[in-house]
Amino acid sequence: MITEKLEKAFNDQITAELWSSNLYLQMSFYLQKEGWDGCAHWMLKQSEEERDHAVELAGYLAKRGGTAKVSMVDVVPDGWGSVEEVFKHVYEHECHVSQLINELVDVASAEKDKATQDFLWGFVREQVEEEATASSILEKIKKAGAAGLLYIDGSLAKR
Ligand code: MG
Repeated sequence: MITEKLEKAFNDQITAELWSSNLYLQMSFYLQKEGWDGCAHWMLKQSEEERDHAVELAGYLAKRGGTAKVSMVDVVPDGWGSVEEVFKHVYEHECHVSQLINELVDVASAEKDKATQDFLWGFVREQVEEEATASSILEKIKKAGAAGLLYIDGSLAKR
C-alpha cells in the first residue's frame, strides 16, 4: 500500500505530465501552422509520450492500492518566435521535469518506499534521454541555418 503523501505526489506528477503533453501539443500546432511538418510530427509524438507517462504513473498507483486522479490542467503557453525558440523551450522544460522527478524520488525515499523508488528510477533514466535528445536537436538547429533547418525538419518527420 502506498502512503497518502506519496499518492498525492504521484497525482501531482500525473498533472505535470498532462501539462507537458498539452505544452507539446500546442507546440505541434504552432509548428504545423508555420509549415514545419516534420517538427510538428515529432512534437505530436512527444505529446503522446507525456500522456503515456501519466498513464504509467496511474497504473503503478493502482497496483499499490492508490487512486489516480485527473485534475485540472493549467493553460499552456502559446506563440513562439522560431523553431529554435520552440526547441530551447523543450530543453528547458525537460530539465524542469527532471527536477520534478527527482523531488518525487525524494518523497519516496522519505516515505521509505523502496518499491516506488525502484519504479521511479526508470523515470530518472528516461529524463537523461529526454534532456539529451532535446539538447541534441537544439544544437543542430543552432548550427543549421535556413537551408539546414529544412533538412532537420525532414529527419524529425521520421520519428
Ligand atoms: Mg514525461
